[in-house]
Amino acid sequence: MTEDTIAAVATALGEGSIAVVRVSGPEAVEKIAPLFRSRLDLREAPTHTVNYGWIEDPADGAVLDEVLVTVMRGPRSFTAEDVVEISTHGGIVAVQSVLELVLRSGIRIAEPGEFTKRAFLNGRIDLAQAEAVIDLIRSKSNRAFQLARRQSEGALSKRIAPLRQKLLELLAHVEVNIDYPEHDVAEMTAAAIAETCGIALQEVRMLLKTAAEGKILREGIVTAIVGRPNAGKSSLLNALAHDNKAIVTDIPGTTRDIVEESVSLAGVPLRLLDTAGIRETSDVVERIGVERSRGALNEADLILLVLNHHEPLHEDERLLMKELAGRPAIAVVNKIDLPGALDLEEVKREIPEERIVFLSAKEGEGIDRLEQAVSKLFFSGGVESDDLTYVSNARHISLLHLAAKSLEDAIAASEAGIPIDLIQIDLTTAWEQLGEIIGDAVGESLLDQIFSQFCLGK
Ligand code: GDP
Ligand code: ZN
Repeated sequence: MTEDTIAAVATALGEGSIAVVRVSGPEAVEKIAPLFRSRLDLREAPTHTVNYGWIEDPADGAVLDEVLVTVMRGPRSFTAEDVVEISTHGGIVAVQSVLELVLRSGIRIAEPGEFTKRAFLNGRIDLAQAEAVIDLIRSKSNRAFQLARRQSEGALSKRIAPLRQKLLELLAHVEVNIDYPEHDVAEMTAAAIAETCGIALQEVRMLLKTAAEGKILREGIVTAIVGRPNAGKSSLLNALAHDNKAIVTDIPGTTRDIVEESVSLAGVPLRLLDTAGIRETSDVVERIGVERSRGALNEADLILLVLNHHEPLHEDERLLMKELAGRPAIAVVNKIDLPGALDLEEVKREIPEERIVFLSAKEGEGIDRLEQAVSKLFFSGGVESDDLTYVSNARHISLLHLAAKSLEDAIAASEAGIPIDLIQIDLTTAWEQLGEIIGDAVGESLLDQIFSQFCLGK
């Protein structure tokens, strides 16, 4: 299938001083060459070279920008097609005018995700890897970035492939048994089917177990900081932001006009709930009081209840602690640099001791203990593990659930003595469902849906 040639700005618009126009397709070099004035003709440039020169409008000879042009001939390129990347350095106006010139030369503007889609269609990467590219672009923390990077390198695919191979071998044996029932060499007993399916099922369940952790790494822990006025909520936020060289970002909400604040703790993003005013003197939490902080409490994955070590418990705090029973909450006893007046025994009656952390937000002391407590609460095996084969993509998770169900059905059927040609159906289904994760035999509409999530130029 011959594709046309596409182009888009591949760097974030309006950010940084260098912008890249990426061109991919069979005519990439041929169409860009006439626009590029340099010592040598781009058509003669060896592959994987960076060439210095100017982008010039051939119509009137006007110079648009001084550029570096990289040539990567397929298949050794991201899309496996011929790729030309024009690095402009004149800011947004220059890059736009270069792109316009490129498009005028008969190259089509790329759809969002089209470069990655081509990489997939040309067999450069599988679907799980392509989806990881989306996650890479969107990752909010270091660890989420690592997770996505590993997946884009095929970590999940590497675990799915042998699993499918096992099922395929089993299917082949079943097939032989159905076709040649007299063939006694490879007799496929129900017990053998149950055993292989059992092993596969275990692996699928293991991958599913990582899903919750993967989701957290990718999307962050939705966190509510609650407590009485003056307990030190704002100070805690600042300490978190400071001590962890946190990414404190203001992300304008896409649907509502709210500001989301995100700090990083132990490499995990904490997304602070409803924090538009948290840095001001009148915190949202303070204003809404105990009654209305319930809403925030219900939405949160993590609740940090800040208590003041320097003062006795207040009735509001007693109520809050009762609210928190059975919730993923940590009591932060703040101001330990000051003499204690808080009744710790009463706190311990409401909140398990391993969920009570003592610190001084003002002195920045004990933040590491809070880090450990959060890690323990969310990551059973510890986040430090190098094995970051987390499943974090909703589509993968639902397919793994379906595959688990098919394998369970196959096991139940073989144990119930159902004929193997019927069990074969469940096996085939499981094999196909796992295949969909890596993009074996997925329909065009699903592909469109996946790749349309990309930003332009990827
Ligand atoms: P919020 O109302 O809960 O947000 O509390 P703030 O963070 O605004 O802090 C209230 C007051 O307590 C401020 O004067 C802070 O400087 C002080 N404070 C906060 N944390 C500490 C701490 O760990 N030690 C001491 N001594 N003072 C603190
Ligand atoms: Zn405050």
